Amino acid sequence: MTTHVPASLWQFLSREVALVCDASGTLIWMDERAARLLETVPGQSLRALAAQGTEDKVDRLITLARDERVERWEAILCVGGVPRTFAFRGAPHEGGVALVGSLVPEDYADSLSQVSETMSELAALHRETERQQRELKRRADELTRLNRDLEESNRGVRTLHAELDEKTESLVRAAEIKSRVVANVSHEFRTPLHSILGLARLLLNPANGALSAEQQKQVQFIRSSGEALFELVNDLLDLSKMESGKATLRPVRFSASNFMGALRGMMRPLVSADSQVELRFEEPPADLALETDEAKVSQVLRNLVTNALKFTEKGHVTISAERGPEDTVCFRVSDTGIGIAPEHHTHIFEEFTQVESPVQKRVKGTGLGLALSRRLAEFLGGSLTVQSTPGQGSTFTFTLPRVHPEVEEMLGMAERSQQLEPGRAPVLVLEDDRQTLFLYEKYLSRSGFQVLPVRTVDEARRTLQRVRPAAVVMDVMLEGETSWSFLSELKGNEATCDIPILVVTLMDREQKARALGADEFWLKPVGEDQLLRKLAEMARSGPVHKLLIIDDDDVHRYLLRQLLKDTPYVLSEAATGPEGIQLAREQLPDLIFLDFVLPDMTAFDVLDELKTDPRTRDIPVIIHTSHQLQEEERRRLEKGTSTILAKHKLSREVAITRIRDALHKTGLGTDAGESRRG
Ligand code: ADP
Repeated sequence: MTTHVPASLWQFLSREVALVCDASGTLIWMDERAARLLETVPGQSLRALAAQGTEDKVDRLITLARDERVERWEAILCVGGVPRTFAFRGAPHEGGVALVGSLVPEDYADSLSQVSETMSELAALHRETERQQRELKRRADELTRLNRDLEESNRGVRTLHAELDEKTESLVRAAEIKSRVVANVSHEFRTPLHSILGLARLLLNPANGALSAEQQKQVQFIRSSGEALFELVNDLLDLSKMESGKATLRPVRFSASNFMGALRGMMRPLVSADSQVELRFEEPPADLALETDEAKVSQVLRNLVTNALKFTEKGHVTISAERGPEDTVCFRVSDTGIGIAPEHHTHIFEEFTQVESPVQKRVKGTGLGLALSRRLAEFLGGSLTVQSTPGQGSTFTFTLPRVHPEVEEMLGMAERSQQLEPGRAPVLVLEDDRQTLFLYEKYLSRSGFQVLPVRTVDEARRTLQRVRPAAVVMDVMLEGETSWSFLSELKGNEATCDIPILVVTLMDREQKARALGADEFWLKPVGEDQLLRKLAEMARSGPVHKLLIIDDDDVHRYLLRQLLKDTPYVLSEAATGPEGIQLAREQLPDLIFLDFVLPDMTAFDVLDELKTDPRTRDIPVIIHTSHQLQEEERRRLEKGTSTILAKHKLSREVAITRIRDALHKTGLGTDAGESRRG
């Protein structure tokens, strides 16, 4: 069946237009629908039909289709003045182009325009992003520049630091050199000064022939100048010692009352009988005793009293001593002299500083006294301060710990070393530097070693008479002596030659040390691990206690071995009863750790075997068990053993204490120190 569709209907339904353009895009033919829809005639250019702003796209269609086929080319043409989208297909045709365009339905066109809107939004976004990126890049550049600047200033700072370090180092060096020069020069000065003073005294002695009055005056001048110079040299020497840290502490125990008595004796001659100044010593608390460097305390006070007498023309100078807060002692020297203006309260403690005054011109002085006194006060762990009102007088307050901190620590250490701990191997440490001694004690505090500190060769000899140490650690450069001959003496003596000796000192004298028999030589400073390792290694050749573990359980033996690491105990191990008994007979250990449950024998059998053999009868046995013991078993065991230890409760501390106790009971490790403890 065929149906006839009227042409007008086709016209209405069809949305296609057919066009032919020449090479320049001028329409040379079009079908009827095109003529009607586009309201155009041949001769018009296709470009003229394009919606505003889309002309280029139409031109490009013509250009492309002139050479090849083009598909789905969207162009917007005006239909009745309204822009509508056409999808074109085109192909070359006689130098020009043939085109068929179909009108895109409006909703599709809408989406297209939406797409195009979105596209343009996207484009805008893209532009914005690009702008932001540019901005970011600009900021990044800025940051890079800033970084560069920072890096440069950092470099600058680093250079500055390095320079500062260098400066500090050279200052330290300079200070050292200065101290050395001062120390040497002062020594050189003192000898001729001694002669000058001696000769002056000789000349002034009438027994050696009378001088004329004039000569006597001249010699007296020589003498007092010599004395002033001598004082200056002494002060300089003391100061340089303080500065270079070479000052040594010589602590003694003394009562404040005796100290004040002696000071009074020294100071009284400075006050002449007709003086208008009274020297008053207040009685300190009777039970006030100090333990510090008495000579240095005296030096500070002599300085203060001399000053007070110099700058007081009438009235009194009072010296007092009393208890201060926190176990300190407070010495005060107050006078009714000229006083010191507040602006000078700081300067006077600087070297070579004197305050201008009429009195100043009349008195002797170096300007070093207070600087030195303050250093001394600080060296003793204290302070020196002044309170003063011009015209009324001054009070200098010297506060110091009643017991010098180092003394306190030393005392504690010496006391601890008096009691030998049975489980710890004694190590004799000969070292004059207290700080180093404290350090060694700290290092060894958690180890199986006990430090026996001695500071002189004599002390070391005395200690050796009562204890045989597992090892000796010694410095060879001691205060006022060296210990080279002591080293060779130890190694030359049959009784002590096998005690390992570790020499630790500041100067490289390894060859000499080794030649004299040192087993090891180290330069200071010594690290904790290094020391512990070496001592453990050296002590193995020394007097250590032998322990035997009889236990079939590898893990328990391993655990015990770990627990007793770094202790002076040497362990041997047996996994069975018979093996244990045999080892006990061969090695004669100082102590046996016996597992209660063994695969082949009971602990009772092992104990019986050990007890019947006279060689092993007295070896203490610690029963080591994870077994819940019956009352009966416990009683039987307690008879033949020292201790029963539960395996699960075993810690290093418990193990060591029990071993110590057991050894102690048999008298092992007992010596003078221990028996004193009872
Ligand atoms: P000097 O050897 O000159 O006494 P010091 O360092 O002992 O040196 O003292 C520094 C200065 O401090 C003195 O020269 C003096 O000016 C001032 N001074 C010290 N003690 C007193 C005092 N008790 N009364 C007044 N001035 C003092």
